[in-house]
Amino acid sequence: MPPVLTVRILGAGISGLASAILLAADGHRVELIDESFAIPTVGTALVLFSSAQRALDRMGLREEVRAAAVAPEAGTLRASDGRILLTMPADDAVLISRSELVRILWESLPPTVHLGQRRIDDVRPLRQGTDLLVGADGVHSLVRRSGWPGAQAARSRGLTVLRGITDHVPPEISETWGSGWLFGITPLPGHRTNWFACVPEHRTGSIAGDLAHLREVVGGHRDEIDEVLAAASWQRTLVHGIHTAPALSPVRENVVLLGDAAHAMAPNLGHGANTALQDAEALDRSVRLVLGGRTSARAATPLLVRRALRLYALRRALPDQGWQVASDLMMRIAMTEEHADLRDRVLTRVGRFRA
Ligand SMILES: Cc1cc2nc3c(=O)[nH]c(=O)nc-3n(C[C@H](O)[C@H](O)[C@H](O)COP(=O)(O)OP(=O)(O)OC[C@H]3O[C@@H](n4cnc5c(N)ncnc54)[C@H](O)[C@@H]3O)c2cc1C
Repeated sequence: MPPVLTVRILGAGISGLASAILLAADGHRVELIDESFAIPTVGTALVLFSSAQRALDRMGLREEVRAAAVAPEAGTLRASDGRILLTMPADDAVLISRSELVRILWESLPPTVHLGQRRIDDVRPLRQGTDLLVGADGVHSLVRRSGWPGAQAARSRGLTVLRGITDHVPPEISETWGSGWLFGITPLPGHRTNWFACVPEHRTGSIAGDLAHLREVVGGHRDEIDEVLAAASWQRTLVHGIHTAPALSPVRENVVLLGDAAHAMAPNLGHGANTALQDAEALDRSVRLVLGGRTSARAATPLLVRRALRLYALRRALPDQGWQVASDLMMRIAMTEEHADLRDRVLTRVGRFRA
């Protein structure tokens, strides 16, 4: 019989919850620690591609998530005057509210998972008496800063992101690229609209002020955007910066980084949550492969844990870095100010070629 691992997971975000579900279902002793176990109140949309849905399938949650999501057929990429640059099929992707996804993950946590609500300021005690420490603590990961001392910290990309929800039904799915700004509109279940925008860094000190600034920058270009912004309220808007951290080898001894802790990426390809789910699934699969399926009380050897983590790194390091590089490139293209005309001309040609 394969051994039972004692696993500590710091961070109950998407990757932490998903790995807790999978590892506990295999019989490992899992402690999940977070400073706050609250479900996000403003549930802006996440796109889940088929890769993330496969990871959810391993948790037995794919159908539940799809039932709580909307499945669009296609979306358009538009220039600031409304011209269609590209039409993109959605394939199997679905859109779900972040709070809904977190709620589903929460409700699927096996009762054996031990919850510890506290802020961690020192990682060292977490390593004591633990076979495996999982750093799922997000973009400013303490586990990363402690265990990878030479690694670069997450840095601000000088951009401000605003996201929100309104109650009207969007006419279409679109992302509009202007000169130094972008604005996206997608549906959400319940006949609601999810919107997101990115502008050069600008904070006024209040969300209402940030919304007013956004209206000044992107208003007057397209009626669809003006309609959404007219319906937007500061109470249902989130404002944050974009921070990215260079990807690194996500494994050291018996410590592994998942999700944003390992590879915080620009949001422009919508793969932050997707890679977080895939990481969790790959970690569980690697542990299973090296340790075997069900567990017994026999103590795990550190050697087996390290072998499992090396396998995990082989599976995830390259794809995660690939998404990170591609997302960064997409962010630069989308947000360019000086080359916006050239970009739009090139994309129009690409769109005609694909049609
Ligand atoms: C509002 C919002 C909207 C987003 N929209 C999209 C989107 O549309 N598409 C997309 O793909 N991605 C989106 N993302 C990014 C995506 O959600 C992240 O890439 C993904 O959540 C990463 O998951 P994670 O588990 O790595 O980290 P997180 O979800 O950030 O979770 C980290 C957890 O660790 C906890 N934590 C951190 N440090 C400590 C500590 N010292 N002590 C105790 N607890 C700690 C935090 O409380 C948090 O719960 C969005 C992110 C946010 C915040």
